[in-house]
Amino acid sequence: MVNKYLKVNPKLYVHQGPEWLIPYCGGISTFNNKYKQKYKKLKIIHYLCGMNCNTKVSDCSYEELSHVIGLTYDWCVETMGYKKKRGFPDLKVSKKKNSYYAYYVRDTHRITIFPATFSHHKHTLKKLIAIVIHEYRHTLQKGGDEKYIKLSEKYGYWNNPLEVDARSYEKNWNICYKQIKDKL
Ligand SMILES: [Zn+2]
Repeated sequence: MVNKYLKVNPKLYVHQGPEWLIPYCGGISTFNNKYKQKYKKLKIIHYLCGMNCNTKVSDCSYEELSHVIGLTYDWCVETMGYKKKRGFPDLKVSKKKNSYYAYYVRDTHRITIFPATFSHHKHTLKKLIAIVIHEYRHTLQKGGDEKYIKLSEKYGYWNNPLEVDARSYEKNWNICYKQIKDKL
């Protein structure tokens, strides 16, 4: 099911620089085998196949987090759909430090996730999955960045109806988790 989308939109998964997500083009098992070889000597192999929703983000490598984020993204596409006109949103996993967990820019149709912020606040993968779903929900909302800014000015960030709507989707993290956990 997941790979269907990789075929539809392969450019999403093309390596475009060190910070771009490169999930499992060759299949999940190949991806994991590569990890196993790479991290064998570091004795953190239990995370390679043993991540769960309570695993701390700070205990995961960039590649492992990209894997979780990629699986969550695919789950979002499968279950929440996407805007036909705009196509699949771009997804970027940044290595930079930032005060944001993540954001979506409508004009570029791109979600950017900052794992360092999750680590800093001692969050687990549960929060990471929830926030990816939150950002993905933003990609489906109507209107451009201008509308978002206007609503934020009127209601403030927290009460911005677009934020309230996106937050209401975060609780679906556990439904997503149930479906991806065997691949972690
Ligand atoms: Zn938001």
